[in-house]
Amino acid sequence: MPCASATAASRCRRRRLSGRSRGQAALFLLMALVILLAVFLRNVDIHSAAIAKTKAQNAGDASALAAARWQANTLNLVGELNVAHVAALSGGDASAVHAITSMQARVLFAGPLTALVAAQAAAAKNGIRPNPEFSSLLRDHAANVLEYGTQVAGGPAMREPYPGAWREYHDSLLSIAANGVAAAPDNAVFFGNASGGHILLDKAFYEAVEGREWCWFFLNCPSGGNRTILDDFTDYTWFPPLPDPPQPNPQNSEIFGVGAEARDTELSAIGGLADVLPEIANMPSNALHAKENWYFYSPGKWQTHWPRMSEGDPDFLPLVGSVREEYDYAGADAVTRLYAPAKTLSGNAGDNGGQRDILWTAAARPFGYLRRGSDKIRPNSLGIILPAFRDIRLIPMDAASSGSDATFDIAWQHHIREHLAPYLASGTLVEGCRHCRDIRRFEDPKFRRVGRDWLSVNSYKCTLPSFGSGRGGGTRRGH
Ligand SMILES: [Zn+2]
Repeated sequence: MPCASATAASRCRRRRLSGRSRGQAALFLLMALVILLAVFLRNVDIHSAAIAKTKAQNAGDASALAAARWQANTLNLVGELNVAHVAALSGGDASAVHAITSMQARVLFAGPLTALVAAQAAAAKNGIRPNPEFSSLLRDHAANVLEYGTQVAGGPAMREPYPGAWREYHDSLLSIAANGVAAAPDNAVFFGNASGGHILLDKAFYEAVEGREWCWFFLNCPSGGNRTILDDFTDYTWFPPLPDPPQPNPQNSEIFGVGAEARDTELSAIGGLADVLPEIANMPSNALHAKENWYFYSPGKWQTHWPRMSEGDPDFLPLVGSVREEYDYAGADAVTRLYAPAKTLSGNAGDNGGQRDILWTAAARPFGYLRRGSDKIRPNSLGIILPAFRDIRLIPMDAASSGSDATFDIAWQHHIREHLAPYLASGTLVEGCRHCRDIRRFEDPKFRRVGRDWLSVNSYKCTLPSFGSGRGGGTRRGH
């Protein structure tokens, strides 16, 4: 508008001024809105992450408990069948004895597979959808199982626990994979897979490189005297070759296996049996001394003390209170892994474009005891399996059997199965693999020098048990 007079000009300036300040106010308001929106979206993200975490936790815990419940059922059933075997033997019924022992061999596979199905049901009930990568890994593994029966020189590659077992097991895995795997069995022991026995098969090594936990190198890989791998490493040729896979025990399921073994022995050789199984007092002496196939706890899995829960164990996990004597054993446990998707609105997406997955791992195990008079004794006190398991509880992840292996950590499995052998042969590493990236970082002399320098001053700090175990303390693990 033209300003004709002085007063008009001044009014006009005022108007222009107030127009400018209105513009500034609008800009300010806009900025405030943008900030508020960002805060709002972030809060929504935090809120949705919190919901996803609770969901993951509930589903993870429920699936581990469901799996452990079926491990208990499996053990109790094998134990009941041992007791039924005693009765059949007393009555001289050889065909019943045969039926019982072959049923035990089947139960050791069927029970844990039911545990896998039950874990899926528990996860689904808590709103977790199947993970395509888990399902595909299980399907791939089913294909490997068929090869267990392939003939090599001198017979099949792996003896079947019962006739037709490998085909049956393969079909069950395929049908579970077809229904979708949401809660993956993270402490499976796949026959023929190497686990441990080499620094590059130890997940703690990679965690130590990533987190620059120099104490881990000081405590875990002394090359002799005070020298560590940080001092001695040269290049990929420095590492020893990968170890041969351990001799499998094909009597137990690879997934949620309960650790049983058949042994040819006579009942009279099992000390203290009459104290907990009064039936054997009435057995004819020839039955008591007959060599028969009984199912025992495998000593490799069922040690007398619960590692990391027993004071005096080098890796003792400091907890309030101690484990009751009757529960102080290592044995069957179930570890599950699952992811709950948390949608992000602010664009701070995780690895998954707008979606950040919350990982939850949980562990549970069956608890039980035998009664000897008024005493409670460990279920494995006599060696032979008897029905003993009454309860299922969650246990700390660090006291579970999975150690640093994680059967369904897909990236880890790719790394140890596909990347390590070429690396050890020629030093080749795979782009896009975070474990390969850790090795690359470790190969850098500057990286190792930082560690050596730190340790030369601070190694006295590396004596606490919580240092260097390389396990636990992470934010990615449950319990
Ligand atoms: Zn890799």
